[in-house]
Amino acid sequence: MTAKLKDINLYLAEPRGFCAGVRRAVAIVEEALNRFGAPVYVRHEIVHNKHVINGLATKGAVFVEDLKDIPDQSIVIFSAHGVSQSVIDEAHLKKLVTINATCPLVEKVHQQIIKYAARQMEIIVIGKASHPEIVGTLGQIPGYTGIHVINSAEEAEQLQISPQKPVGFVTQTTLSVDDTAEIIHILHRRFPNIHGLQKKHICYATTNRQLAVKAIAKESECVFILGSKNSSNSGQLRNVALKNGAGKAFLIDDATEIDWRELDNISRIGISAGASAPEYLVEDLIKTFRSRYNKINIHHVIVTKENVNFKV
Ligand code: SF4
Repeated sequence: MTAKLKDINLYLAEPRGFCAGVRRAVAIVEEALNRFGAPVYVRHEIVHNKHVINGLATKGAVFVEDLKDIPDQSIVIFSAHGVSQSVIDEAHLKKLVTINATCPLVEKVHQQIIKYAARQMEIIVIGKASHPEIVGTLGQIPGYTGIHVINSAEEAEQLQISPQKPVGFVTQTTLSVDDTAEIIHILHRRFPNIHGLQKKHICYATTNRQLAVKAIAKESECVFILGSKNSSNSGQLRNVALKNGAGKAFLIDDATEIDWRELDNISRIGISAGASAPEYLVEDLIKTFRSRYNKINIHHVIVTKENVNFKV
């Protein structure tokens, strides 16, 4: 324990932490455990957060990557990231009772890509090909050949699509708002008649959390984002902090991961949490700061209020 030497300012980003899709997905697992008892199987991490997964596993949720690891006729929940049609088909073959916790905003992307395919359009998917959300999105139209996954401005410039073909795009819900705007700008230049939502598919929660992190980054010498390393939206928050004025930014699962030497000579610290990180982690982090510093001044940096809920 270091001596309590100085005062410190904490800038708390608002909104932060759980979004409506994550709240719904976690509630679905808890409700399934209440109604049916353990074990309840969940395909893939219900949301990408170590603490949420460990908590649900303690209550009896069993997380698997492959339906083959689930006994026939069991209950299985599909994660908030969505699944391919082939996974749903396999679940039916195994006579699994399926519960779908896919975020409604991801389902909107699924519907959009199915519409594009029905119209025989060339489809550009902006996102990371290996992320489960994109795997699930592509899996809505298995075997469709006119599909291009890109994740950078360079890849947007290099796309080879005949100018005669109709083109549409969708985006992963958890991307960087600024980077994606640049990619979409290039797509509009290259394919002037391209179809796609003006506001893209980056969801309200990702957008708001990035705006709030921009605001705290301006005030902070160092920013901590609570979230797991495999959480796309949490990782984006760290990048947003670095690009918008924070000298340092760290993605941490909890307060135990802080390297306190990084905070020597620093007195202005920003804090936020990814959409899958529970609020108690933020509270624990603040408690840890209280225990190490003489006095902490808390500043709430509110960019907007959220009022979004999805029915379970
Ligand atoms: S981050 Fe957005 S898309 Fe993902 S679960 Fe939350 S609300 Fe849904």
